[in-house]
Amino acid sequence: MAESREDRLGECPADTEFVGKADICKGCPGRDYCSKSSGIDPDQKFIDVRMNAIRNKILIMSAKGGVGKSTLVTCLAISLAKNGSKVGVIDLDICGPSIPLMLGIKHENIIHSEYGWKPIISPYFGIKVVSSQSLLESSDSAVVWRGPRKTNLVKTFVKDVFWGRLDYLLFDLPPGTSDEHLTSTKVLKSVKLKGVLLVTTPHKLAKDTMCKCVDFCRKVDVPVIGVIENMSLYKCPCCGETTEIYPDGGVSEVLEREMGVQMLGKLPFEDKLSELGEDKLLEEDSIKKIVEYVQPICKYIS
Ligand code: SF4
Repeated sequence: MAESREDRLGECPADTEFVGKADICKGCPGRDYCSKSSGIDPDQKFIDVRMNAIRNKILIMSAKGGVGKSTLVTCLAISLAKNGSKVGVIDLDICGPSIPLMLGIKHENIIHSEYGWKPIISPYFGIKVVSSQSLLESSDSAVVWRGPRKTNLVKTFVKDVFWGRLDYLLFDLPPGTSDEHLTSTKVLKSVKLKGVLLVTTPHKLAKDTMCKCVDFCRKVDVPVIGVIENMSLYKCPCCGETTEIYPDGGVSEVLEREMGVQMLGKLPFEDKLSELGEDKLLEEDSIKKIVEYVQPICKYIS
């Protein structure tokens, strides 16, 4: 039997065709019961219907926190939507959601309708958003959830939300390779994914953990679109000269050379991005800057 995804991950394949048959099942007390099961998740056909109505499904991952991933997701969403695309964002950073604040919907709650949960509509070009933040009573409430509850929420966001037809659905994943990553790649495995955008900073410390991210993507059979080196350059406001923050860093070059991952671009520090964290909407000038900021990346996903 060919090695299954779950054997590669060392994960229980309870809701897959390999239920009770994978190598990991040998010696498991539940094997007799599981081997009689079809392993088909009855929810999967609903997930497939929802997701097949969306043209480009893109996961955005980073190895470490603080690399500006959610900010980049927000900028990509604004840029794509401003250029006429229908865009949705699933904020899967369940314990540390920041997308609602940046997309101007921090105080909005998700509404239930006869067609499913209605995503919240951002004032920025009608971007549709779901986030754990929109399920909390207060914006300061902590999410204290273990793995299975997070898994259910990820599944709910793709199955029960009425996304309609979209050009892009961006999945903002938390740092690392954990529950949210496993669940999202698992529920999306029967629909065509555009792939994963990896985000890093140029510091050498990020290199090993980024390699783990690439390895994760390969183990779960998800294509990697490429790596973005964020906060990589500094442009002098006086003379306009551009300087590399870590001249001997070059994490994206190493990933390209050693792991065959395409480098999509090095992005500079952009002071206008700090306005995304403020509790007010961006001015036209700041939106223009944001669109320019991610322009080098958009061409790889459109
Ligand atoms: S036998 Fe069943 S419970 Fe045990 S690892 Fe396999 S699928 Fe999971």
